[in-house]
Amino acid sequence: MSAREQIVPVFVPHLGCPHACVFCNQRSISGQSRPAAARDVTEAIERAAALPLNGAKRQLAFYGGSFTAIPVREQEELLAAAKPWLDRGVLSSIRLSTRPDAVDEACLARLRRWGVETVELGAQSMDEEVLLLSGRGHTAEDVERAARLVKAAGFRLILQMMTGLPGDTEEKSLETARRLIALEPDGVRIYPTVIVRDTALYRLWREGRYREHTVEDAVRLCAKLLPLFDGAGIPVIRLGLNPTEELSGGQAAGGAYHPALGELARSRIWRERAEALLAGVEPGSRVLLGVRPEKISQATGQHRQNLRWLEERFALAELKIRPAAVKNEEIVLLSVEKAERT
Ligand code: SF4
Repeated sequence: MSAREQIVPVFVPHLGCPHACVFCNQRSISGQSRPAAARDVTEAIERAAALPLNGAKRQLAFYGGSFTAIPVREQEELLAAAKPWLDRGVLSSIRLSTRPDAVDEACLARLRRWGVETVELGAQSMDEEVLLLSGRGHTAEDVERAARLVKAAGFRLILQMMTGLPGDTEEKSLETARRLIALEPDGVRIYPTVIVRDTALYRLWREGRYREHTVEDAVRLCAKLLPLFDGAGIPVIRLGLNPTEELSGGQAAGGAYHPALGELARSRIWRERAEALLAGVEPGSRVLLGVRPEKISQATGQHRQNLRWLEERFALAELKIRPAAVKNEEIVLLSVEKAERT
């Protein structure tokens, strides 16, 4: 999401969903036991329209992950409720997310008629074994086919991937990223797996049949994924589940749940760059590194954790980061004061 967007969220539960994604508990925590209805859309837009926009654009977002898999009559009811607001300019765009195997030309034509601009596809992984073990019920080929259809129909395409699913490995995640990049999406969201209570994944974990994808695992892996997307010019518009009261209140029992996961991963990239620079520095030295002024806080890390980690790793007497006239992602050694020998 850009800072210039005001999101109007409407949750669309997929009641009676025939799939069994191991991480899913939307039925148990959404607190919603009825389908979304036109009045939910109208009320959400009315609430949002009462707030100042301050130059931002207002986007209606249908959450839930299976929009085009719910009955067509329900899809049209929701879209029809939004259309007048779109026509009057109260909304600037509509986005929705759905499953790759719930997309075909007819459904995309319908979404276009109602003014949908962005279609997000939950790819999750491009590895067949991971998809199978995660109960997704679709293949990597479904993702590729759906992505091509979405682009050919003129929508903005956003692809979502998860890391740390059952059967997943670092190499599989990197390969997933490469295959998503090849589909040329307009953006991606990365969701490291969170173990939510009342899910099949929670039970597997409790039984010792699933190894938790920790915050540290996710940070380390995402520090490798982000440069792939950055290098391809594809924005990562979200990293990590949005914090919610339910998740923070105990529904997130384990896994990579952290309100600032994206920041931690970006910061880790700086730590690794600094690590490479400091490789030959003598223990006990006082070191000054330089980055662009706007990168200092990311390079320093939350609670100065990069500096503390690097000082300890290289047994430095002191490590500081200063603003420097360098390239965007560059970090340089400004000075090294060696330890005095006695
Ligand atoms: S995440 Fe999977 S199980 Fe949950 S509603 Fe979507 S398709 Fe169904």
